Formats: sequence, structure tokens, C-alpha cells
Amino acid sequence: MLRIALPNKGRLADEARALFAEAGLGVRALGDRALTASLGGEFQALFVRAQDVAEFVADGAADAGVTGWDLVAESDRALVTLLDLEFGRCRLVVASHEDSGIMSLDDIVDHRIATVFPRLTRNYFASLGRPVSIVPVSGAAEVAPHLGIADVIVDLVSTGSTLKTNGLRELATVLESTARLIAPARRAALDDLVTALDSVVRGRGKRYLMANVPRTVLERVTAVLPGLNGPTVTNILNGHDMVAVHAVVPADGIYRTIAALKALGAEGILVTRIERLLP
Ligand code: AMP
Repeated sequence: MLRIALPNKGRLADEARALFAEAGLGVRALGDRALTASLGGEFQALFVRAQDVAEFVADGAADAGVTGWDLVAESDRALVTLLDLEFGRCRLVVASHEDSGIMSLDDIVDHRIATVFPRLTRNYFASLGRPVSIVPVSGAAEVAPHLGIADVIVDLVSTGSTLKTNGLRELATVLESTARLIAPARRAALDDLVTALDSVVRGRGKRYLMANVPRTVLERVTAVLPGLNGPTVTNILNGHDMVAVHAVVPADGIYRTIAALKALGAEGILVTRIERLLP
């Protein structure tokens, strides 16, 4: 049995479950009080708080786990990242109250800093050679300046709109985070899991594009559709001077690829999602 610690609730829970399901490791049967679940084959999920995943994995209660890189780094346990899962993207930032007069990191001298991440915060300011005092809080650090508990906070943001709403100014990034698959060490027994999840993560950012294009513009089409190894080109029965091109292309900005193909005379453009991509 391979036990995988997954977040039981919160921001990362749904996306972690969805990723496992897409990889063919969806929850089959819930176990005792829904704390465990079979994921099929030799895989079993263990649902714990995102904040506890690193501890469970480091202590050997689970063979691997999924949680935010911020939480792994804060835990300071000896763990390796097997895979960046590319969801739960956020940044740990230093922010000050707009009325505090603290306009940059240079203005922070002996200030009190409220944070859920005391270890990362201490290390960050130590690396800058700046003495600060840390006020550890268990959540909602963004209200600390309003309560007079601290002048500065170190907190997670994704868009930055929560900071703005709370009258906070972003000063610096301490850490960039995404959800990761972690384990105490690399193990051959986890290879199939890594491959399954990796193939889904790779497929998500890509699309499979097919189009019929005039043979005369093939070279220019190739420049538009680099694909993994350049596009696949096939003849069309009764296609006259048209050929079919197929390619795996980045999902981002695909509208530009489509516009460029149309400008080259492409017809019958078809774009599909990719369930799995194994290079
Ligand atoms: P939870 O507190 O259970 O909702 O999970 C928090 C985790 O979600 C954090 O430790 C991050 O890894 C991740 N996360 C992603 N985006 C954000 C965000 N905008 N604010 C806070 N946490 C985020």
C-alpha cells in the first residue's frame, strides 16, 4: 500500500482531488470516517489539513503528499519535491500598512511583523541582515496592522486584491509557491504515481490542434506550429493542394495561433484538450 496525504479542505483540496481523478486515481471508496479513501490499485489517500501534510509525510505516516510549497518550506522538514503540480499558485509577500510610512524594505527597522510563516519570515529578514520581531498568528495576518499588533505582515497573495482591500502595500516577495507532490525521498515505488500526475499536468497547458492548410504555405505553417517535434503533416484524400497538419501547441495565446493559421489560408481548424501528455 502507498499512502498519499491529500488536503482534506481549503484551497488545495478540490484541485488535488480533481488532478488525481484525471490521472485515473479518483476516490473509489471512502474509508473510516472519510479520513482515508482507496484511490485504486495500491494507492490510498489520507485526508489531512494542508498545514499537516508535510509533517505526515516527513514522519512516515504517508509515503507521499500534496500541499503548498509555502507550507513545505515553513515546515523545514527534509522532503523532496517529486513534481510541481502547477495549481495553488501564490506568493508569500512582505506588506506594510499604507499609513505606516513604510514604503520599502529599507524602511523596516526593528518593526513587528505578523505572519502565519514565522520560520520563513525570520530566515528572510535574517538573510537581509535586518532585525525584526515576529508576531506569530494562526490566520488573517492582514488585519494585524488595523489592530495595532504589527506594522508589517508577511502573507500569501495570489492577485493582491485582499492586500489592497485591507489598505496594505506590497513591498517584496519572500517565496513563490505552487502545490507540490512531496516525499521523504525519491523512490522507484512512486514512479508510476509521478508519471500519471505529470502526464495530466503537462496536458493541461497544451492543446491538440488540427487544420487543413495549402501545401504551398507549409513552411510558414511550421513556423506558427512548432509542436513537440514540428507538426505532423498528412495527405488528404481528394484534398487537392491541401494537407492536414496536427500539432501540440501551448494553450496560452492559442487564439493568436489560430489567427495566424487562418491568415495562411487554413480551413477546418479543430482544437481539442489533451488528457495526458507523455514526452
Ligand atoms: P487552506 O488554508 O487550506 O485554504 O490552504 C492554504 C494554501 O493554499 C496555502 O498554504 C497555499 O499553498 C495555497 N494558496 C493558493 N493561493 C492562495 C492565496 N491566494 N492565499 C492563501 N493561500 C493560497
